[in-house]
Amino acid sequence: MIIVMARTAGEGQIAAVVGKIRAHGLSEHVSRGTERTIIGAVGDERVLSADMFELMDGVERAMRVLKDYRLVAREVHGSDSIVHVRGIPFGGKQLQIIAGPCSVETAGQMDLAAAGIKKAGARLLRGGAFKPRSSPYSFQGLGVAGLDLLQEAGRAHGLPVVTELMDVRQLDTFLEYDVDVIQIGARNMQNFDLLKEVGRINKPVVLKRGMAATVNEWLMAAEYIAAGGNHNIIFCERGVRSFETAYRNMLDVSAIALLKRETHLPVIADPSHAGGKAWMVPALAMSALAAGADGLMIEVHPQPCEALCDADQALNPQEFATLMVQLEILARALGRQL
Ligand code: PEP
Ligand code: MN
Repeated sequence: MIIVMARTAGEGQIAAVVGKIRAHGLSEHVSRGTERTIIGAVGDERVLSADMFELMDGVERAMRVLKDYRLVAREVHGSDSIVHVRGIPFGGKQLQIIAGPCSVETAGQMDLAAAGIKKAGARLLRGGAFKPRSSPYSFQGLGVAGLDLLQEAGRAHGLPVVTELMDVRQLDTFLEYDVDVIQIGARNMQNFDLLKEVGRINKPVVLKRGMAATVNEWLMAAEYIAAGGNHNIIFCERGVRSFETAYRNMLDVSAIALLKRETHLPVIADPSHAGGKAWMVPALAMSALAAGADGLMIEVHPQPCEALCDADQALNPQEFATLMVQLEILARALGRQL
């Protein structure tokens, strides 16, 4: 941390800053210029915060030198990390597609969805059993019964499953059901207790971006999980709130490029929740891969018009298969495989 003293700062104020630095176990480097004094705090600055100095008399401002995140940072771990889900690698040359309905509804729906996405080349099945809905009167998901149906369809078609954990109290059930990937949804990206709990297990976690979260906040959310010991984290850009009302969210492709630079962990994108319209999914899916995403999560329903949740944005299996053909061509052009 660098602390810039005011021009008028006296020796007593400089000594007070030095004292505070030492009290936190760091040492100081004092540089006296002609106009003002600058003090560097040498050591692990993460125990310090800027405002603990900025509130002191004679201090003009304080700045961190290091980033807030460490375990997820590429500056600490230069090469790409691969997260394996039952042997399926995320973050390598191969792009991974997760597909399936927004919510688990019936055994027949899950069977048709799983068969359709598998045939088209997706490797993981998604489906929400516990749904975060804006209205308490909307379908809330089947709960534990949904986990059963999801696992049944996944096993029948040889697809590992991804499903959202909304509450710490459901974690044991998720582990009993041996859910392959735990999804932390946009609305829970900063539910720090939930992040800590999934940090204590070793299941892969898809961490969706909060709808108004900065990239730094998102990286810090991942740092919470990693700090607990679980480094199997896959970031998922799903669009952010913007001033635009013509579509659901704005897919932040800049964030994908930025994240690939800032973290060694895999990054995927969810074009379905970004656009909120089925017709927009192919364009957004391709732009996400072009920006460097390591995979996609796409909503697919055997009969979108019957879907109990997010009907507007679901592709039917035929549309999904057509998209997969386009994505395969793009993957090759990007020097990757699908
Ligand atoms: C979902 O994947 O169904 C979902 C609710 O996504 P998000 O948390 O991104 O809104
Ligand atoms: Mn959905």
